[in-house]
Amino acid sequence: MTIAPERPGTGAGPSTGPSTRIGQLLPTTGDRTPRGDRLVDQFELGLDAPICLTWELTYACNLECAHCLSSSGRRDPRELSTDQAKAVIDELQRMQVFYINIGGGEPTIRPDFWELLEYSIEHNVGVKFSTNGVRLSEERAAFLASPAMNGYVDIQISLDGATAEVNDYVRGPGSFDTAIRALENLQAAGFSDAKISVVCTRQNIGQLDEFKAIADKYGAMLRLTRLRPSGRGADVWDELHPLPEQQRELYDWLMANGENILTGDSFFHLAAFGESLPGLNLCGAGRVVCLIDPIGDVYACPFAIHDNFHAGNILTDGGFQQVWQKSELFQDLRAPQTGGACAKCSFFDACRGGCMAAKFFTGLPLDGPDPECVQGYGESALASMNAAGGRVIPESSQDHSKKNPTRNQPVMLQLGRRPDDLEASLQPRGMPVSACAESPLAGFDPGTGALGGGGGCASGACGC
Ligand code: SF4
Ligand code: SF4
Repeated sequence: MTIAPERPGTGAGPSTGPSTRIGQLLPTTGDRTPRGDRLVDQFELGLDAPICLTWELTYACNLECAHCLSSSGRRDPRELSTDQAKAVIDELQRMQVFYINIGGGEPTIRPDFWELLEYSIEHNVGVKFSTNGVRLSEERAAFLASPAMNGYVDIQISLDGATAEVNDYVRGPGSFDTAIRALENLQAAGFSDAKISVVCTRQNIGQLDEFKAIADKYGAMLRLTRLRPSGRGADVWDELHPLPEQQRELYDWLMANGENILTGDSFFHLAAFGESLPGLNLCGAGRVVCLIDPIGDVYACPFAIHDNFHAGNILTDGGFQQVWQKSELFQDLRAPQTGGACAKCSFFDACRGGCMAAKFFTGLPLDGPDPECVQGYGESALASMNAAGGRVIPESSQDHSKKNPTRNQPVMLQLGRRPDDLEASLQPRGMPVSACAESPLAGFDPGTGALGGGGGCASGACGC
């Protein structure tokens, strides 16, 4: 029998202030002895080096997906230089980080992307990179399949619909065709084991079998991940996040097909339906997971780009190792937690209260249930906070969305805008950017891979 947690909303709510210590928002035991001798008990206390390090190389992107977790679009002029990026790779090699997840923005837009990829592999740091496929031409696919890559590179092509209609609604016109063309090129080049990475939404849960068929067709593996309300995802979460009955559908599908499906440990909150899914089943933020953003800021998790989860900067705080091992934030996150209100739930051992970032960016307290708690406590917590008018949704600390459409009119909202919104969208916002940072693929034809300008962005105007 499930024991109801204490009413959510009675604990300390998340603060949007940068000075808030996460240790004040999480109930901890103060005891640093592992709970047991399972691997997960060790992981809870943190490791000397992260297992799952995501490094976003750039905020620039040719697309403007409605749910982008990092609110990407425009390049940030402060992004790490090639030499600085290589120094990070050197440090990761010294720390024996055995692979990195590279993302963005669209990482392949960086003109030094391929150089950094080779550098990383030469230094025994394997690379898994996520891309919308825009630069995976036949030539690049052949390079990635070549012995020079030594099998150390893994590629994830993002696809959020098994049909163009569903995918392009969220990711933008033409993005389905671009992704499929990349898969075709990889297959033709003999690259084995590409991944198709799907963010599960209300619109695509009914397409799980079709996604699997696409993966099989291209000799790829299917990877399903959870939509979090992070970045622009906060703007569209209410519309896109799966309904309760779809969560059940997803769980049942994963239980039936899970052995051949990767989930990136996304769905451990679904374990409260009964049996746990394979994987870590733990929020690894700051323990085994972290993010380096394009300007060298280190956050606890790729889905937690907010000052409250900012651990330091690799350029100003003594390097990545120093930040990972010494930051106050990560020390707080590695303290064993009691579970707060969720500790009374009979599913707590499996679900652990769900995803910290999902709670934070929906305005729920970190010591309460996940907003998509399958026992329904998250929904009722959101409803009661809404009714009381007390739900404050924190904003990400970075927003590199393109000027048009603006943050609140992402790609999927093409149904027409009110004139006042339109007027607002035409006002300049954010830092001034160069033309190529605003539109890094201006002049680029994804069909041919041809660029209109020099090595990187088509215009070459910013010298990147
Ligand atoms: S905050 Fe959420 S996405 Fe990040 S490590 Fe924890 S569970 Fe995973
Ligand atoms: S979030 Fe998980 S642990 Fe918390 S009440 Fe829901 S099922 Fe139980």
